[in-house]
Amino acid sequence: MKKPTILVLNTGSSSIKYALFAAQTTLPRIIHGQIDRIGYRPQHHCNGMTQPLPMPQEATHANILDWLTGHLRNEHPELHIMAAGHRVVHGGQSFKGPVIVSEDVVTALQKLAPLAPAHQPHNLAGIAAIARHWPHAPQVACFDTAFHRTQPRIAQMFAIPRQLTNEGVLRYGFHGLSYHYISTQLPKYIEHPKGKVIVAHLGNGASMCAMQNQRSIATTMGFTALDGLVMGRRCGELDPGVIFYMLRELNMTVAEVEEQLGRKSGLLGVSTISSDMRDLLLSEDPAAKEAVDLFVYQACKKIGALAAALGGIDALVFTGGIGENSAPIRDRILHNCIWLGFEPSNKAEIATPACLTKVGSKPSAHVIKTDEERIIAVQTWKITNNATSLRELR
Ligand code: ADP
Repeated sequence: MKKPTILVLNTGSSSIKYALFAAQTTLPRIIHGQIDRIGYRPQHHCNGMTQPLPMPQEATHANILDWLTGHLRNEHPELHIMAAGHRVVHGGQSFKGPVIVSEDVVTALQKLAPLAPAHQPHNLAGIAAIARHWPHAPQVACFDTAFHRTQPRIAQMFAIPRQLTNEGVLRYGFHGLSYHYISTQLPKYIEHPKGKVIVAHLGNGASMCAMQNQRSIATTMGFTALDGLVMGRRCGELDPGVIFYMLRELNMTVAEVEEQLGRKSGLLGVSTISSDMRDLLLSEDPAAKEAVDLFVYQACKKIGALAAALGGIDALVFTGGIGENSAPIRDRILHNCIWLGFEPSNKAEIATPACLTKVGSKPSAHVIKTDEERIIAVQTWKITNNATSLRELR
């Protein structure tokens, strides 16, 4: 008998992460893999091993997703894909939690694509690839914006004409699947999980979320995933006047401005060397040092702002590629935030999850590894299980 399995696709701007989970309550992970550097020498890693990827260098997300789903089907005839879960970056105002994908849902998600042009079309390509290879498997869309729908209205508003706000120009926030997963882990590692917690998801994309009662009350990303912290290639917080200057005085087109701020800014733009924090930390170049300084400066400034939104801070959690792996960046951020009361530990911590502060430090600081694929699997399992039992009842 084939093994009932949930397939998860987490399609990002330059990578596709995937995982297969046994469809049972504890959802053990059977396989996990990643195809990264899409558009620039894509590479495939499966269960920690690099594998050949029979695709041309310029293969698109859609080509790779089609290959990947076919490959998983052919390589694992012992698995029965009973449902597929997807990370979908933008759920707008209407999607406040996971939904089973229907034609109407796809149409609504296509309409939101202009708000997340680097992600949403790839998320939809993943849904189309699964529908081609497993047409009978229910698919579930799990949203990066959904976790932030608990923000108070005032935290979601921009000071723009009310008409625009009414039309949905709001601070949606992103990385919600990561924050949701971390929120489920807080009781394991933090003394007051329901207290005032700032989670810093620092990766290629970077943001922070202020949580109270394990729910989002404020976040640094906005209407799109461009706002907030310095990112690998995105500018983060910016005076909107810079955009008018680029358009009017520098005669750039809208597409050029978008490319400059969304793909050529951030760590890459400031350093002129790399968008990868590891490269910058190794570099002697003053521009690389300045890019790292700006990353740390903006992170500390946003921690201060989110602590103000919370009215205090009980704990700080680092996650994401930089947050989980880069001790020098964590140390610098923590030492610059000593004014908030942190007492950094002198121990060289090696394990994740780890506590970065001395016993009794208030606030405390921690590293917790995120797991977006697991939260997608959990959401998919819950919603499809319910749907199955509903069908059985009818
Ligand atoms: P994404 O937002 O694409 O999911 P990740 O969360 O995987 O990104 O983070 C990727 C970034 O993490 C890389 O660009 C790199 O800068 C950083 N990173 C990974 N490992 C380390 C490390 N050991 N030291 C510093 N930075 C690291």
